[in-house]
Amino acid sequence: MSFDPRTLKVDFRCRANSMHGRLAWDDETYEVWKHWDEVEYDTLALIASLIAEGDSRWSEVYGTRADDWRSVTAALRAFEEANPQPMDLGLNVRCGLCDRRMALHERESRADVPSVYACGHRHTDGRFRREEKADIHRVVDRVLLDALNGRISWVMAPELAPAPAALVAYADYLTAKIATYDAHIGAAKADAALSRQRTDLVARLEQVGMIQEHGVFTVAGLDALVREPWRDRPTRDDGVFTDLGRALLVDRVVCHRDGIEVFTHLDEGTALYRRLYADDLRKEIRVAHIQLKMLEDELTELEETPAGPPDSPSS
Ligand SMILES: [Zn+2]
Repeated sequence: MSFDPRTLKVDFRCRANSMHGRLAWDDETYEVWKHWDEVEYDTLALIASLIAEGDSRWSEVYGTRADDWRSVTAALRAFEEANPQPMDLGLNVRCGLCDRRMALHERESRADVPSVYACGHRHTDGRFRREEKADIHRVVDRVLLDALNGRISWVMAPELAPAPAALVAYADYLTAKIATYDAHIGAAKADAALSRQRTDLVARLEQVGMIQEHGVFTVAGLDALVREPWRDRPTRDDGVFTDLGRALLVDRVVCHRDGIEVFTHLDEGTALYRRLYADDLRKEIRVAHIQLKMLEDELTELEETPAGPPDSPSS
């Protein structure tokens, strides 16, 4: 075991049992230290005094950081309890076993570890449930294209856009949450998971600002998709839709043990589907009326013109 008292970084490897200190998650294992923030500081308090071997620096670093960690996480929890989040611009992915919302864990800094959605709950079969982000997005894109069935303009139905008042409330919520974080973070800003939380809040606030300035369909890349549906987009590897685009169009994704189920706002039978389809039918009926009128005019003209000799008789 190695321990750096200044960074509080612990590297734990048990020679007798490689699973000690590790958490099995489906087919892979993770170090508990790095994936279980709630227990990290408490566990550290139990063992660090032994492994620091009399080095007093650890208690100084640990003392302030652990106190501030507890203070800021308690303040954020109290904020969340007092202020329900007014809206959500993320994909609604739910666990098919416990129905909990699955949180996205981005692993962009490490190419070898995929980003996953996880409910963070150990189920009655003793296992956790996680699904790779790329797999979910692939299924979502396929289901969306099936639901659209060539009617790509449906992705810009005004009903899909968040209400301006909700966006204002969401921006206020994010600003207040960032302020709560900043007021309590102190020495805990060295905590990687907490600083990731702040980065995420700031990114979400910036996204709301972009939506207010440019419109949600532009920011979600949906108007570009409608204008040039067949154009190769630079983000092709990420799929047909953007993260925000998926979140707007999808009602919920349910991850079962044996498959991913997607429900979109454009599914047959939804109120939006009926409204859009009725509009399309009305448009087609209008066009058919115009074509019918043209054919009738042509026929009338033909009938009213007296027959004459051919213009250029064939020889
Ligand atoms: Zn679950």
